[in-house]
Amino acid sequence: MAVDGHSSCGKSTLAKDVAKHFCYKYIDTGAMYRAVTLYVIENNLYDGKKINEEALKKDLDEGKIKIDFRYNPELKKPETYLNEKNVEKKIRGIEVSNLVSPVAVIPFVRRELVDLQREMGKEGGIVMDGRDIGTNVFPDADLKIFLTADAEVRAQRRYDELKAKGEDVNFEEIFKNVKERDYIDSHRETNPLRQAEDAILINNSNISIKEQSEIVIELAEKILNKSK
Ligand code: C5P
Repeated sequence: MAVDGHSSCGKSTLAKDVAKHFCYKYIDTGAMYRAVTLYVIENNLYDGKKINEEALKKDLDEGKIKIDFRYNPELKKPETYLNEKNVEKKIRGIEVSNLVSPVAVIPFVRRELVDLQREMGKEGGIVMDGRDIGTNVFPDADLKIFLTADAEVRAQRRYDELKAKGEDVNFEEIFKNVKERDYIDSHRETNPLRQAEDAILINNSNISIKEQSEIVIELAEKILNKSK
């Protein structure tokens, strides 16, 4: 099952809920682009203006950027690892958020991560969230959801989430980041964010997390019953 949509609209919450309901595996592809971005920052491959694509490509080709997910039994959720290090917290900060869309535009980065995503999902029984899952990674997914919400609502949710984690955040900065990422994600050349023709659109500005999960679980159950 594919869940695509705009930044900070609750894709991962929905995908996790549905995966849990059906005992499916959940893969957060945004975390993979975020991990590559963290690598870029930590290895000085970004000088504040330009990403050193040549060096990044070399490191990717040489297998120096290893990303995987490991289940944390205490928190009961998967966490992102970059080269054996737990980077779950670091990849959610504003520094990575500000650079991730420019990194995700780079075609060789997308190729590498899409290959890895297809490998992770080849057995089925998976819910994957991202921007191009229904259109590119798994165009034959049984169910495709395209999730969105008004940009201001999304920025407010992100602000509340970061604030609750104790981060020093500024609403205007987050609002700007959400809008910028929407623009870059929808206008890039390689696999831009767009709704697949056969995806079901859900705008969750005015519905609760529980309601949206119920809608999607019901849709998925119908499809599963049909294929029995
Ligand atoms: O989902 P999340 O907001 O964590 O994703 C971070 C960024 O990674 C997005 O803004 C987008 O630029 C990129 N992304 C992508 N393709 C995906 C998933 C994420 O380009 N499948």
